[in-house]
Amino acid sequence: MELSANAKINLTLDILRRREDGYHDLQMVMQSVTLADALTLTPAQGEEGCAASNLHFLPTGGKNLTQMAAAAFRAAAGAGGEVDVSIQKHIPVCAGLAGGSADAAAVLRAMNALTGAGLSLARLAEIGARVGSDVPFCVLGGAALAEGRGERLTPLPGLPLCHIVICKPPFSVSTPQLFSRVNVRKIVRRPDTAGVIAALNAGDLTGVARRMYNVFEDVLDRRRYGEIASIKAALIDCGALGASMSGSGPSVFGLFPRLEDAQAAQERLLGSYRDVFLCAPAEKNV
Ligand code: ATP
Repeated sequence: MELSANAKINLTLDILRRREDGYHDLQMVMQSVTLADALTLTPAQGEEGCAASNLHFLPTGGKNLTQMAAAAFRAAAGAGGEVDVSIQKHIPVCAGLAGGSADAAAVLRAMNALTGAGLSLARLAEIGARVGSDVPFCVLGGAALAEGRGERLTPLPGLPLCHIVICKPPFSVSTPQLFSRVNVRKIVRRPDTAGVIAALNAGDLTGVARRMYNVFEDVLDRRRYGEIASIKAALIDCGALGASMSGSGPSVFGLFPRLEDAQAAQERLLGSYRDVFLCAPAEKNV
């Protein structure tokens, strides 16, 4: 079975409070995009399934998120056998684009179809929450408000037709380190989450773009902050209505009403960066 696994971007990312259990309560507006990995699922050749990909450093056994998803599905649905997963990664890894979660979500949906288990997307999302906090959103796709650790989802209308340029600079950001740097009481700048939701409901691309923000941008160290800021400035300079960092970074995206401007932005950023993608909002899964 051939599958496509869509990446996501964060139109907003806000941290509301630190919880007693050490996790943070988040509020994020997420949108899936057409940048996607291509997966092929086949019955396992050996006793246990494995995951092969074009990236040598990804785990190939039970630690690959696709195998974790397959195991979670078997345990919850009481159906399905071991599967081999072949992954053509196009979504950069550790980029704030939920690439691994997208692959896991695609496997959950595929196993549901292959076994005829007939679980609802909501149930698959529940199962996915055991694999990773972005998996439930990736099961649903489209756009949604994600709360809690990201598992409480409220579907939203997706972005109106637009072009999205995503640029991943060549450094990684440690998510636990970012969380440890956030002092919730001292967050100065926050996204206008309610305003973004209202703009999505109204189909107002400019309204969304003007209100986007990611609170993690403010806790990056000076060098990384500078690089993120300069990518955002380049996107805006080329005609993006707004630009923001996605998830825990370091990917930055811009929203463009005009394809030619998005193409020009991609070309300009490709002068300095290898991972620059031109894509569009993706529809919700059915
Ligand atoms: P998020 O936006 O959800 O925080 P991310 O984009 O920062 O995700 P991922 O690309 O999803 O990060 O991968 C994070 C980790 O998961 C990596 O350390 C990687 O080795 C591991 N991993 C396991 N399986 C996969 C997979 N199928 N694809 C990508 N990464 C995987």
